[in-house]
Formats: sequence, structure tokens, C-alpha cells
Amino acid sequence: MAAGISVPQFANEDEARQFLESVRWPNGPVCPHCGSTGAWQIKTKPRTLKSGKTSPARQGLYKCAQYQCGEQFSVTVGTAFERSKIPLTKWLMAAHLLCSSNKHVSAHQLHRTLGVTYKTACFIAHRIREAMKGGLPMPSGFPSAPSAERRQRRSGQDAGIRRAQNGNPPGRRGACRA
Ligand SMILES: [Zn+2]
Repeated sequence: MAAGISVPQFANEDEARQFLESVRWPNGPVCPHCGSTGAWQIKTKPRTLKSGKTSPARQGLYKCAQYQCGEQFSVTVGTAFERSKIPLTKWLMAAHLLCSSNKHVSAHQLHRTLGVTYKTACFIAHRIREAMKGGLPMPSGFPSAPSAERRQRRSGQDAGIRRAQNGNPPGRRGACRA
């Protein structure tokens, strides 16, 4: 693992969630559905799945205290990290790499650095780039994309991406352009 990314929020899911909560909600949880600031923390218990395995208690779940709303939410709702099975630690690490690097970070690099599949790396890179373009909100606390990154995106694919794509033939729906 590269130096500088071995910080707690990249190693532990709870730390990752708490880090995201602290940058997104510096003054406590804010309901993404109605914008209200009052929320209760929901405590869940570990569940036993049909397979016999135990699913751990869900952490970081809140219920909006507004009577008219009452929606449940977590810190990832309304962000690029919403509704994915990818650990938050990987998302944060990817966001850090993509936002802090002066050079283009290819999906292939993400795949190797994060230890995820190439397909997952493409998905992560795509979501975070969309977020950086303003399509999806990114939690504040992440620097915006360096201009070099945007220039390289516009100019197309660098050799690293082409190599990565050769090793992973594009599917029918097109290649990963990350
Ligand atoms: Zn609400």
C-alpha cells in the first residue's frame, strides 16, 4: 500500500463512516430527504442469515426526527457512495487518490491499489468522476479535481488505460473510460 493512505479511515469501516460523517455533518446528522437537523440513531442487532452466517449490526443508521418525514438515512445517502456493496474504506481511498493526484489515475491503478476487481475499479472511478464534475454531490472535505486530471480526461485515453483495456476486453456496453 502506498504511503500516506494507511490512515484509519482507509482501514476500518467504522472509522471510514465516522470520518465521512464528520466532514459531511460537522454539526450533527442532517436528513438528506428534508434537510432537517434532528435525527435519532437507530440501533440494529446482528441478524442470522438463512445461510447460517451472521450479518453484523448496521452502524450509522439514522431516522429523521421530523414527524412529516421520518425517513431513515445514513451518511452515504445522496453521495457518490450511495447504494453500493463496496466498503466505504475503498471509496474513501479511491476518492483520495483521484482527488489528490496531479496525474490521471487510471481504473487499472485503482484496481491494483485498492485490491478490487477491474470492473469494480471502473465503477468507482466513474462514480467519483461524475461526482467531481458536479453530477453527484461529494462530501465536502475532498479537494476538487486538479485541472490536469480534467485536461487528460478530455484528451482521451493514455497508454495506461489502453493497456488496461487490452487486458480486459470491453463488454458490449462499451469500455471502461476511467
Ligand atoms: Zn427528514
